[in-house]
Amino acid sequence: MKIAEVQPRLFEHFQKLLKHQQLSHAYLFVGGFGNYDMAMWLAKGVFCEKMGAPCGNCRICKLIDRNEFSELQIIEPDGQMIRVDQVRELLANFASTGFESTKKVVIIKEAEKMGMNAANALLKTIEEPESEVYIFLLAENESLLLPTIQSRAQKVVFPKDEIYLSNFLQQMGLLKTEADLLAAITNSTDEAKALAESSWYLPASKVLANFVEVIQSSNELAFLKVIELLPHFEGKKEQSVAFEILLILFNQVQATNFTIKTFKAEKMWRANVRFQSCLESICL
Ligand SMILES: [Zn+2]
Repeated sequence: MKIAEVQPRLFEHFQKLLKHQQLSHAYLFVGGFGNYDMAMWLAKGVFCEKMGAPCGNCRICKLIDRNEFSELQIIEPDGQMIRVDQVRELLANFASTGFESTKKVVIIKEAEKMGMNAANALLKTIEEPESEVYIFLLAENESLLLPTIQSRAQKVVFPKDEIYLSNFLQQMGLLKTEADLLAAITNSTDEAKALAESSWYLPASKVLANFVEVIQSSNELAFLKVIELLPHFEGKKEQSVAFEILLILFNQVQATNFTIKTFKAEKMWRANVRFQSCLESICL
C-alpha cells in the first residue's frame, strides 16, 4: 500500500515529525489499514541518508526494502505469543551489530500477543537516557493490549477507508458488489487481496449471497441449502468469514430478524457448536 494515498492525513503529520526530528520513541499503531506500511516508511525515515523524508533510493532505503538492514528488526508472534526470549534475542542482536547506526528501530506485529515480560523487556530499552531506539507496536484489537503498552506508547489510530479498499479490489477485476462486500469484511489491502486471490472466497461468497436471498422468501428452502454451503466453508477461518458476510448481507437488506439470528448462531459456533447446526438455526 502506498502510505501517502492510504492515510494522507497521518502521512502529512508524520512527515512533519520526521522533518523536525520529533518522532516519539514508542508508538502504538492501532488498526491494520496502513499501519505496517507507515512503520516501515518511518523506519526508513529514521535511517535514510537524506534528512526529513526517506528517499527510497539510497543504500539504506534499499537494504530496508529487502529486509536486510540489521538495525531494523521486525518481530511477529511465534505461534500464539511473542515470547520474552524473542525480545531478548533481538536486543542481543542489536548489541552485537551496532555498526551501521546508533539508532535502532523495532516493529512488533500483532502486539496483542505480547506477554508482560516481553513488553517490559522491550519498553525498558527506550527509558535509558541515551537510547535511540524507536518502537512501533502494531495492533488490530486495542482491547487485548496490556495496560503497560497502552500507557507507555503513543497511540495513533489508522482508520479504514472502505471506498479506497473497494476501488483497489475493483482494479483487481472484482465486480463492484463483490469488492464492496470484501472491503467491508477486511481491514487492509493485503488481507483483502489474499482473500480475493484465494480459490475459495469468491465462489463461497456467491453461494452465501444466494442463501441470503432464498432465506428471505423461504426458511425451509434455505434450510435445505445449508448442505450446499458446507463444502465451501470447511476450516475455522472460512467459517468465521461466513458469519461476517452473513451479517453484512442481512444488514444491507435490513433483515433485522436474521441479523439477530446470525449473531446468536455465531455465538453458538464460538462455543463449539457445529457449523452446520449454527447455520440451520438461522433458518428456523
Ligand atoms: Zn534513503
